[in-house]
Amino acid sequence: MTNPADDALKVIQSHPEGVLQSELWKILDVDSRKCSRIVKRLLDSGLIERIEYKKDGIKTYVLKATRRPVDPCKILAGDELVPCIGCDEECNAQECHRLMDWMYQLAICEAEE
Ligand code: SF4
Repeated sequence: MTNPADDALKVIQSHPEGVLQSELWKILDVDSRKCSRIVKRLLDSGLIERIEYKKDGIKTYVLKATRRPVDPCKILAGDELVPCIGCDEECNAQECHRLMDWMYQLAICEAEE
């Protein structure tokens, strides 16, 4: 069973321009009251922001995912930056030697800590 808050967050994150709250409950196939509770949970968690918006003279909200700074620990293995940044090769992560080497380096660094 999926978590409706997770589903809502995925929908919001997949729309960088934002999603109208008055549309979100239709997309999620829940009633507007349940949608309001889900939105409140996501707002309280800081995962989304809500901006007032008027559509056809009716007040609603645009919901956008908040941007979080990247944790440098997740992109560095020692001094080595994850190779995916700036990579323009066709990606096949399961067979990428550059990524495997970097992960190996990361494991060594973590073992040394
Ligand atoms: S996994 Fe390999 S091919 Fe894919 S983006 Fe990262 S470095 Fe590039």
